[in-house]
Parts: sequence; C-alpha cells; structure tokens
Amino acid sequence: MAYSVKKWDLGELFSGYDSPELQAAFDNVDEQVTSFEGARGKLNPDIEVETFLDIVRASEATTRIVSKIYAFSGLSFAADTQDQNAQSLVGRVDQFAAEMQNRTLFFSLWWKELDEKNAERLMNASGDYRYYLEEIRHFKPHTLSEPEEKVINLKDVTGPSALINLYDAITNRYVFKLKVNGKVQELTRAQLQPFIQGPDANMRAQAYQELYRVYAADGPILGQMYQTRARDWHNENINLRKFSSALSVRNLANDVPDEAVNALMEVTKKNSKIFHRYFKLKAKHVGVKKLRRYDIYAPVAKSDKPFKYEDAAKMVLDSFSAFDPKIGELAQRVFDQDHLDSEIRKGKQGGAFCASITPEMTPYVLINYTGRARDVATLAHELGHAIHAMLASHHTTFTFHSSLPLAETASTFGEMMLTEKLLAEEKDEAVRRDILFKQMDDAFATVLRQIYFALFERDAHAMIQKNASTDELSAAYMENLKEQFGDSVELSDEFKWEWVSIPHIYHTPFYVYAYAFGQLLVFSLYKQFKAEGDSFKPKYLKILSAGGSEAPARILSEAGINISDPKFWQGGFDVLDGLVSELEKLPVDAKPAAKAKPTSSPKGKTPAKKAKPAKGKAGKKK
Ligand SMILES: [Zn+2]
Repeated sequence: MAYSVKKWDLGELFSGYDSPELQAAFDNVDEQVTSFEGARGKLNPDIEVETFLDIVRASEATTRIVSKIYAFSGLSFAADTQDQNAQSLVGRVDQFAAEMQNRTLFFSLWWKELDEKNAERLMNASGDYRYYLEEIRHFKPHTLSEPEEKVINLKDVTGPSALINLYDAITNRYVFKLKVNGKVQELTRAQLQPFIQGPDANMRAQAYQELYRVYAADGPILGQMYQTRARDWHNENINLRKFSSALSVRNLANDVPDEAVNALMEVTKKNSKIFHRYFKLKAKHVGVKKLRRYDIYAPVAKSDKPFKYEDAAKMVLDSFSAFDPKIGELAQRVFDQDHLDSEIRKGKQGGAFCASITPEMTPYVLINYTGRARDVATLAHELGHAIHAMLASHHTTFTFHSSLPLAETASTFGEMMLTEKLLAEEKDEAVRRDILFKQMDDAFATVLRQIYFALFERDAHAMIQKNASTDELSAAYMENLKEQFGDSVELSDEFKWEWVSIPHIYHTPFYVYAYAFGQLLVFSLYKQFKAEGDSFKPKYLKILSAGGSEAPARILSEAGINISDPKFWQGGFDVLDGLVSELEKLPVDAKPAAKAKPTSSPKGKTPAKKAKPAKGKAGKKK
C-alpha cells in the first residue's frame, strides 16, 4: 500500500462534534451511572462474588464509553488546539467526567474500606480485574471522605485541568521566526526542530535562541502557571492526602517502590560522566574544541538526508517484521485504519504520542513528520506503543494499559529494532557513524536529560513551598544543567528558560523518569536478546502482553529483573559505556560535514572546572 503524510480519521470514535452518536454516548453514560448508583445498597462485606463482579463489569462498560468520548475530545484538540469546537468539547468532557466520577465514587471508597479478608475473597474470584482492584486499595491511606473527594474532582476541572489546557493553548500557538536562506520564515515548534538538530551550526544557535526568546517573553506567566501546578500538587497530595513526598505520589500511581526510583536517579547521577566523555568525543567529530549546548544533537557526518514518508513507513514496518512478523502486522493496522496523524499543521499539537483507548480498538498515533532521520525513529517509537497496547488487547479496559514505568518498553525497543536494520543495511561508513552517534544522542535525551528533569522537579516543588520566584527557579534550572553537563558543554544563558518549555512537568509531574526507566530496561533486554537470540522473543512478548495486569516489579521479576537493585540500573549504563568506548575507537573524519562555525559565545580555552554560560539549545523528548 502507499503511505502518505496525512491527518488521521477519528470516524471510528465519532463522526463529528454534532454527531447524534456523540450525544447518545453522553446520554448512555448518564443512564448507566444512574443504574450503577442503584447498586450502592448491595455493597456489604458479605456481598456475593457474582453480584460484586456484575458491579465491576458495569463500571467497565461505562468506562469504555467514557474513554471513547475522552479520546475524541482529546484527539480533536491535539489535531487543532486552536479549534473552538475542540476546546469547548474538552471543557464539556472534563466537567462531565468529573460529575460521573463523583456519582460513582462510593464504590471505590467502599472497596478501599473493606476488610482484608473479604477483599481477598473477592479479588481471588475476579480474574483479570484483580490487579485493578488491588491498585485501588493501595490508595487507602491517602483517601479522603466522599464529600472531600467530590469537591476535589469538581475543582480539578476548573483548577489544574483548566490550567494545563491553557498552557497548551498558549504554547501551541507560538510562532518562531527564523531567517532561512535570507528570508524570514514563521515556523511552528515542530518546524523549528530540524534546524535545532540540523547540520548548520549557525542555524542551530539561531533556532535555539529564537525558541527561548519566545518562551522567555512569556516566562513569568508560564513560570507562574508552574508554581500554581506545584502548589496544587502539594496542597492536595501532601497536606490533604499525606503522601510523604511530591515524588512518591507518582511512584504509588506507577506502583513502583520509592527505593527503585531512588536507585534509578542515584545511579544515573553517578554515570553522568559517561555522557561527559561522549560530548567531548562528539566535539572532535563535529570539529570544535568544545560543544555548545546548541551542538548536542548535531549530526556528525553528512547533512541530514531527508526520508520520504513512504520510505520511513516501510523501513519501520520491515524492521518490526524482521523481529517478528506479528509485530509488523500490528503496526500495519495503524496505517491501514488511518489512525495516524503525520501531517504538519498550524495549531496541531507538537511532538508525538500514541493514545490507546479500549483494548480492541487500534490505537491512535500523532507525529509531526518533517522527514528527518529522527522523525523515522519517532514513528518507530510511537508505533511501538501501539503494538504494546495491541498485544495486551486480551485484558480488560482497566488492565490492558501498561503502567507508566513499562510504558516506554516497546517504544524504545522499536527504535532499537529500527537502528539495527539501518546499521545492517547501511554500507557508507560516514552514515553508519552518524547512526551510532544518534543512538548515544537519544540515550542522552532519554536517560540523563529526563532524570535531570525529574531532579529539577523535585527541587522546584520544594522551592515553591518556600515561595521561590520564577527567576529563582530559572537559576536553579541553570545549576541543574551545570551539574548535568559538567565541563563537557558550553551553556548559554537563555537555557534558563528551557524548563517552562517542557509540557510533561506541567501535565504529569514526575512522568519523565519513566523514559529513563524504559530506556535502561530496554538496554538490558536488548543485551539479553543479543545473547539469547530467538529464545528471548517469547519472554519479551510476555512482558508486553501483560499490559497493566500486574505490578511492574512482578512482571519484570518473571523475566529475572530486580528493579530495586542498583546493579540492574548500572547494567544499562554499562551498555552505554561500551557504546562510547566503541565510538572512541572510530577515526575522526578530517572534514566533518557538520563542522560548527566559531561560536559567538564565550569559548576558546575554558578554564578548568568552570562551565561558562554559552548559548543554549534544547532537545525535546517525545
Ligand atoms: Zn513514548
């Protein structure tokens, strides 16, 4: 089949904002919730297993419809964040979902309060619902009374949710001006990205400076939005719900022990030197004494050759099929059903994501395809997510979604499969070298960078409790960058605004460590794959097809992995250390195509130790 860049088709969800089916779905949920409310009287400790399961099944049926409504509003908004119909539907759905949640809240509250013995009796009979039910009970110590929970749900609609929608609406309409071939162009953030990661050193610097010029202009507003988000997080989770820390809220939602996340963060900090070594090596290949922050993602060879979308799609699908034909077929479905929005449009959400809605529905994928090698990797990444959900389609609506720490497994593994294919086929040494360097660039963006975001979030949340200003947060962010890069990279001052440009820290505080978790896990899995060959595949597919039906630690322990052991995380870094050593053996090309021009930043001989502020640049994580 032919593959072309296009918009997705949301018709499988609903045919439009005014479709009778959409209105019917709202009405249907309302009716089901009314009937669910009738079950309240049946809830007692001696409840029959079948009665109990009927209630859980009814709740799942409602959740399925709500998921579709949610998806339709969210995906419509992502497709055009400036569309007023989409904006108002998002508002309506948030409000509606909160009201429905409030009317059904009694069930989870009762379930959390139920004595251990009866809970165990019911869970033992609940099959695939078990882990879902277990998870609800984990939150027992942090649950408030029914009226309090209801007020929080309602105030969330116009509080944090509205704030985040506003952040998205403001930042997605930014226009970046860049002089290209003597002509000033107006670009979206996605269109700016190729210059940020491109072969031209001056353009890289200008693109980064323009990116942060625009964000800095709104810096005080965006900073204030972040402070509000963090204060709300603290007020609710620490003051009211008695979590021990801002981070542990995410850890419990991820069902990952605090010590595993602490081990991951500590081991990462300890291994930042691997990346410092890498950046110093990369400077040689790029042809400069020292990398500027702008140059981190610079290609080391050739100029970025563009990939036609059609070729990109085929490469990704072929690489998946080479691992296992079934994986290729699943990814193919996303194309066949037009569930992929690859086009660049003004107002469309930047970056990329995959949305899985109900177990049997093929997930929806959004990317912004500009034809760079990195976009091909992003395509592999997001399709990896889709495959993950499809492999888990035999689970319930409550348990097919992988939990966050495992959510980046298939996506990252998908990128590795693509790289493997590219390396196997590419004969040109220069291009091969570029691919290998890109792999390290990605490892940086996924591991070190994300963990330092999480470390910043931890500091920032604490600082905001002490009334820190936006400027103080920016200063803390610069300190964070200095520690992250050591003396390996020149930082320039505008990078102090990078943090206000990272949607994740607004949307889902502490989400970012899941990327590092996933990447290091995949390095370890990939190492096993290389050692074990075909016999590894069933083990890998089993991890994916578990979806979110078990605790991450349990799913992984079946594959012989202990996530609380620092040695496990160190194993991932050992792979990276080996990769850098391999790169260090490569000859330095005398005439690198991507030679950086002399920088305008304070450079030259950098005094030992002191990392001087240079000009900035940012990469972004999908
Ligand atoms: Zn991802």
